[in-house]
Amino acid sequence: MSRAIYPGSFDPVTLGHLDIIKRSARIFDEVIVGILNNPQKSPLFSVQERVKILEEVTADLPNVKIDTFSGMLVDYAKQNNINVSIRGLRSISDFEYETQIAQYNDRLSCGELETIFLVTSPEYSYISSSGVKEVAGFHGDVSPYLPESVAKLVAEKYNL
Ligand code: ADP
Repeated sequence: MSRAIYPGSFDPVTLGHLDIIKRSARIFDEVIVGILNNPQKSPLFSVQERVKILEEVTADLPNVKIDTFSGMLVDYAKQNNINVSIRGLRSISDFEYETQIAQYNDRLSCGELETIFLVTSPEYSYISSSGVKEVAGFHGDVSPYLPESVAKLVAEKYNL
């Protein structure tokens, strides 16, 4: 059985993330969306809230599971018998950053964790969680970038 992890912050999950999740679910038998619990960041949505949100927006994808992890991705992957990490590429800057991470993970896992890049769909290529939060902070409409239910939750957080 092929299992892959799509790790990230997903704070909040955007249409760009969801597109990568759906496409990955067509390639692998099982896709685990791994929400990184990073105590150094103060997120908009708690890890528990993000689990619930991701479970809701992937409810129609039976081979997608949501989980959380802290610490190094390679350790989580080893413990859970996962040997593929999926990352999305939007731009040259993503490529530079993601290549480095992939190479660290290759070394740290002694070649056991392979990274696979999926190129963003053009309509989502400019969307990022941080961009969405910036728009919301200026009371802008975030609905073009997020699944409908997530747009509502973000609007509530910002009293929009
Ligand atoms: P991180 O905080 O680790 O960057 P994110 O949750 O922002 O995590 O992103 C997780 C992954 O999803 C990264 O590989 C990122 O490049 C990718 N990604 C984010 N937004 C998009 C998008 N709009 N299209 C395709 N991939 C994306």
